[in-house]
Amino acid sequence: MEQVTVLGSTGSIGVNTLDVIGRHPQRYGVYALTANTNIEKLQQQCLQFQPQYAVVVSEHHARELAQQLAAAGCSTEVIAGAQGLEQVASATAVDSVMAAIVGAAGLPASLAAAQAGKKVLLANKEALVMAGPLFMQAVQQGGASLLPIDSEHNAIFQCLPAPRQQRVGGSGEHSAGEGVRRILLTGSGGPFRELPADALATVTPQQACAHPNWDMGQKISVDSATMMNKGLELIEACWMFDCGPDDIQIVVHPQSVIHSMVEYVDGSILAQLGNPDMRTPIAYGLAWPERIDAGVASLDIIATARLDFEAPDEQRFPSLALARQAFLAGGTAPAILSAANEVAVEAFLQSALPFNRIADIVAETLGQSDVQASVSSLDEIYCADQHARTLAAELIRR
Ligand code: NAD
Ligand code: MG
Repeated sequence: MEQVTVLGSTGSIGVNTLDVIGRHPQRYGVYALTANTNIEKLQQQCLQFQPQYAVVVSEHHARELAQQLAAAGCSTEVIAGAQGLEQVASATAVDSVMAAIVGAAGLPASLAAAQAGKKVLLANKEALVMAGPLFMQAVQQGGASLLPIDSEHNAIFQCLPAPRQQRVGGSGEHSAGEGVRRILLTGSGGPFRELPADALATVTPQQACAHPNWDMGQKISVDSATMMNKGLELIEACWMFDCGPDDIQIVVHPQSVIHSMVEYVDGSILAQLGNPDMRTPIAYGLAWPERIDAGVASLDIIATARLDFEAPDEQRFPSLALARQAFLAGGTAPAILSAANEVAVEAFLQSALPFNRIADIVAETLGQSDVQASVSSLDEIYCADQHARTLAAELIRR
């Protein structure tokens, strides 16, 4: 039986992962579950899946959970503190790690899983954005395999030829005749796709989090609305698929039925289609190269009827260009971009920053930071991350 650690099990991806795992009790066992503050949900998950460990970031939440579990006769051991995340991501007994913590907080544990040679199911795109070269190096040196969970990257992975899939996972040599010409990375355009620029100043967090096609955590929902999500995904794809921004075309596809495409040198384009349900990429990542039931309904292609495509509006949504520039600048620039964005999104969610200022804060933070041209250690990334957070918070207060 394959032992799985689910980092961020109480979040949107975490819950969907446990839904898929729960459908295959013969195939998957749960080694550890982790959460930040939602102790109630974590307790329910522990009772249902009986993991060996549960990790909770704060001491007092951990004590509370341990008491509740003991009272319910559950033998799950509770670990307190962020170090516990790395411990359960790299433990010898673990085969696969679902990296589904949101933001920079997920980097150390995602990286620990890669270094320990696990099958890393990567949802935590910020980890790869912040530390792309170090992360990919850890995958290779640790002998890990990397399976994309982000729906677009999972779709691209599904459309790649088998040797190229092997290479994504850190093993396998470049083989002639793969024939990939470029990647078409699709995105819905978010809830404000058709909103005029001046209306973007007054949109509320609630409107921003109401994504037309996907039900996701708050941070990624706001990122989808600013299109920073597509920017982060562009960087994610460059690292994962070993290519540059020029090899990737961003396509707005409002129906979210095609999840991305790969074009070949003979002119063929392969697309992956399906209902917008994260259990599909999660099941594919878990079972690859096999396929398992994900509980996802058949796509009604007749009811879908139309598939529309348009170019992204980079005037109204400047985040896309910011992300592209940060990737090209390299070094600490993507980490600064990601950190400033996290701070700005949080401020917007707290109603302390207008929606259309999120991209400004990211641009100003990047502009006023000393970008280091190359990085050789994680400390340099964390240092850039901290500076960017302080600077972004200061810019928001002004
Ligand atoms: P979410 O907000 O629903 O859940 C986040 C999880 O991380 C929760 O379990 C929370 O307890 C945990 N967490 C938050 N802060 C933490 C901290 N400081 N320390 C430890 N744990 C912490 O987010 P989500 O939508 O599930 O997204 C998770 C990741 O997956 C993000 O990186 C997101 O970009 C990516 N992703 C999500 C979706 C989606 O459909 N939700 C799709 C593609 C990619
Ligand atoms: Mg995505």
